[in-house]
Amino acid sequence: MTGSRTGGHAVVLGASLAGVLAAAVLARHYGAVTVVDRDDLPLEPRPRTGLPQARHVHQLWSSGGRAIDRILPGMTAELFAAGARRIGIPRQHVSLTAFGWQHRFPESQYMISCGRPLLDHLVRRRALAGERVTLRGGTQAVGVTGDARRVTGVRLRSVADGSTSELPADLVVDTTGRASVMRRWLAGLGAGETPEDVVDSGITYATRTFRMPDWAGDDFPGVSIHADHRDGQPGRNGQLLPIDGGRWIVTLSGTRGGEPPAGDDDFLRFAGTLRDPIIAELVAAAEPLTSVQRSRSTANRRLYYEALPQWPDGLVVLGDAVAAFNPVYGHGMVAAARGAGVLEAELRRGGEPGEFARRVMRGVAAVVDEPWTLATSQDICFPDCRTVSRDPRLNRHAGTRQRFADLVGATATRQPVVSAAVVEVTTLSSSSECLGAPEVVAALRSGPTHPELREPPFTPEERARLRRSGRGRPLAATT
Ligand SMILES: Cc1cc2nc3c(=O)[nH]c(=O)nc-3n(C[C@H](O)[C@H](O)[C@H](O)COP(=O)(O)OP(=O)(O)OC[C@H]3O[C@@H](n4cnc5c(N)ncnc54)[C@H](O)[C@@H]3O)c2cc1C
Repeated sequence: MTGSRTGGHAVVLGASLAGVLAAAVLARHYGAVTVVDRDDLPLEPRPRTGLPQARHVHQLWSSGGRAIDRILPGMTAELFAAGARRIGIPRQHVSLTAFGWQHRFPESQYMISCGRPLLDHLVRRRALAGERVTLRGGTQAVGVTGDARRVTGVRLRSVADGSTSELPADLVVDTTGRASVMRRWLAGLGAGETPEDVVDSGITYATRTFRMPDWAGDDFPGVSIHADHRDGQPGRNGQLLPIDGGRWIVTLSGTRGGEPPAGDDDFLRFAGTLRDPIIAELVAAAEPLTSVQRSRSTANRRLYYEALPQWPDGLVVLGDAVAAFNPVYGHGMVAAARGAGVLEAELRRGGEPGEFARRVMRGVAAVVDEPWTLATSQDICFPDCRTVSRDPRLNRHAGTRQRFADLVGATATRQPVVSAAVVEVTTLSSSSECLGAPEVVAALRSGPTHPELREPPFTPEERARLRRSGRGRPLAATT
């Protein structure tokens, strides 16, 4: 059998990023693709019930943009044309890391910053435009049909009237995100118990959007304040990003014991108690456009579907439904897009149907492994992080690994070669093996080349704007 399944029918459960990218891929290989979502999907960029995380900061790293562009060529250009901001990293971002202020060295990667509703809308519109694709909103998936050897379709329920139906499919793709219950459905088919890991630092998100003040102009940098995982305290973070529509989105977060409050009045106060109060200072006089919105669905959760002794033909699981990460690291959308890329590669490769689905699941497991390790190895440093894990890397040599990570992180703030390597890793542009490259090791041995910064490193021009706006304080110059 070849990769072409023209004439076949594929069903995608969930029409968020992983789902619509999978649908775009499948439309090149199947005669018909049905995308099912329990939401009635809006025709314009709007928040929706099934995507509650869309109210919070959603940074899309450049590696994720490239993965989306491979499936939908020109997609990131479309996002920028619609108002998404391109934030060069580290040049266009003011960041207090665990180890101090990051020098604004030349850009080596970037972040795409826009409201998640805009991204959701534009990518869905492009991805589902083909005539082979049908979207069924207001339809909840409630089960799969078939047996442990082969999934043959899905059971659906109308959200409007509760009526149920079955939809046969040659391939079912589950992209229902953190809400996925495929683990339970598979057990019901007799496929066995899927091993699951949860690493939960209890992080809570609280977000508010503001009208960007005129003085900020088009190019005022984003700002991040990160927790210091070494101080034994709950981790508390803040991020301010410019997004489409002339807005600032501000997300504050805290791990268990350090959660941000829900009230509008307490938002600024919490921002003012971060390791530096700059975010509170910046938004103090800005006009709020929303109330504070909170989320707690943030634990790292990974399902090891590739470890099941038998995997049913005709079933693939992608995106957050396989592995969801603490969103502070901004890796979910990269992993979702790369998972859809694995599906594309395996469809092109062809092979026996049973082998195909299993190979996709192995490929997806490889894609999620790096963001999983990055997030969980950091999160376990915070107090009262609840961990149920079969991953031996979380315990074995954890102390040695953390000491190396701390050395790298501390040097990166003041050494451009190490900084560029860290940016490669944190944006998922290269694997963490790049930290062992000879030039990086040499730079680590020589140590920092730049002085320690004591204040947010705004440029002289940015500081002049801050002074004119009345937000001035003696701030350090940039690199
Ligand atoms: C608070 C928060 C902040 C985040 N910030 C970032 C960030 O900055 N950068 C980043 O890269 N990632 C971020 N993420 C992760 C990112 O949102 C996801 O990785 C991304 O949306 C891809 O997920 P997905 O498509 O697999 O699932 P989701 O986006 O969760 O979508 C699941 C879809 O399935 C539908 N659905 C659910 N159940 C059913 C059902 N039974 N039947 C039919 N439809 C169903 C839902 O309506 C929804 O449309 C964040 C996540 C959270 C929670």
